[in-house]
Amino acid sequence: MATGWGSLLQDEQQLEELARQAVDRALAEGVLLRTSQEPSSSEVVSYAPFTLFPSLVPSALLEQAYAVQMDFNLLVDAVSQNAAFLEQTLSSTIKRDNFTARLFDIHKQVLKEGIAQTVFLGLNRSDYMFQHNADGSPALKQIEINTISASFGGLASRTPAVHRHVLNVLSKTREAAKILSNNPSKGLALGIAKAWELYGSANALVLLIAQEKERNIFDQRAIENELLARNIHVIRRRFEDVSEKGSLDQDRRLFMDGQEVAVVYFRDGYMPSHYSLQNWEARLLLERSCAVKCPDIATQLAGTKKVQQELSRVGMLEHVLPGQPEAVARLRATFAGLYSLDMGEEGDQAITEAIAAPSRFVLKPQREGGGNNLYGEEMVQALEGLKDSEERASYILMEKIEPEPFGNCLLRSGSPARVVQCISELGIFGVYVRQGKTLVMNKHVGHLLRTKAIEHADGGVAAGVAVLDNPYPV
Ligand code: ADP
Ligand code: MG
Repeated sequence: MATGWGSLLQDEQQLEELARQAVDRALAEGVLLRTSQEPSSSEVVSYAPFTLFPSLVPSALLEQAYAVQMDFNLLVDAVSQNAAFLEQTLSSTIKRDNFTARLFDIHKQVLKEGIAQTVFLGLNRSDYMFQHNADGSPALKQIEINTISASFGGLASRTPAVHRHVLNVLSKTREAAKILSNNPSKGLALGIAKAWELYGSANALVLLIAQEKERNIFDQRAIENELLARNIHVIRRRFEDVSEKGSLDQDRRLFMDGQEVAVVYFRDGYMPSHYSLQNWEARLLLERSCAVKCPDIATQLAGTKKVQQELSRVGMLEHVLPGQPEAVARLRATFAGLYSLDMGEEGDQAITEAIAAPSRFVLKPQREGGGNNLYGEEMVQALEGLKDSEERASYILMEKIEPEPFGNCLLRSGSPARVVQCISELGIFGVYVRQGKTLVMNKHVGHLLRTKAIEHADGGVAAGVAVLDNPYPV
């Protein structure tokens, strides 16, 4: 497989000129972030980091990732409705992981009281890397699925114009035409709009839960803008605002500042640091309401790494998605090796193997947002410390995916352009809406390619490691 742009990456002078043009186009297109110095203000903004060139991605793998997205939507939705599966899967983890335990407590409390919402909305993103097989062929392997705050759907719709621009400057018009159009934020907004419509109250709002210090606000605004264009109004509030001004009426309808809320869209609330005691109470209030939560607490739990690992057990997909052997086969084909670290022989063996061959594994806690996983020597030390403690059940072990590196040039505000060896991670956005037991929407709505230098084991654009990219299908 050809892996790159070859000699274009060697001409330093040309790269500098191209980089200037690309940055100006990115700013003009709205590929923006607030700055780390002023994360609460849009007075001064900068461009979100991105690659100078689109990265080559095998079309077959792109198609495979799109084709399996509806199956992943079904799977997440099925897991979220399977209280017995969630309880059993998370039982060892919640004993040792306080964050998952708190989410689970809310889940139990809402189940006990009776779930008030009747419409369910999933906006997720399934992420993959391209495993470089021994015979040279690439294979699509899932890294994880994000069921809460899956981001960059807004900015990803603006980067194709930037890469087309770069290729057009080089008079590569044929190549420029190959860059796929992409508009995840529109699809995500259509999901929210459908849920809003089914909620059925013409004056009700969408409540977007976000932090005040939010560098990625333009990504969120892209979805807000799409909703407003459909006459659906969005209010942005923090958990703190919900505890001060949110309330439920007798029918558990949610009101914020006196206005009824149809849909709560979380772009916050996926990390322990997002929750004070007050914020946990606000989350519980939202969960108890009949507003459509995106995600509801069970769907957030369905996105944990522990659930991902348990689903990879023999027979488990068949159990959760009965009578759907084709979907099961498509899903399983994307699974990498996943290993439980629960106390017992199976966990002991996984630990022994990882300590003996650390380069083949990743150790993952139940966390989101990048920068939490352990690799190499650090992983070995952690495993040595954990192996005799029940705390190990709050982690899972995963086979490390090894993509074939390629050259690209990374552009980041405040840093010189860098030509480096890179690997990419492909995400596919999925949307589904369920009313009672009936699925009324199930689709894929676009993609996100992120690329990082190979020296980084972990990832994430927000974490400052990966940058935005586009697939160049080959
Ligand atoms: P998070 O919820 O923090 O995003 P991820 O599971 O997505 O956690 O891991 C973060 C990053 O670590 C990924 O974006 C990827 O770059 C890297 N990573 C995670 N799992 C693997 C794996 N199995 N093989 C190689 N890299 C991985
Ligand atoms: Mg991730």
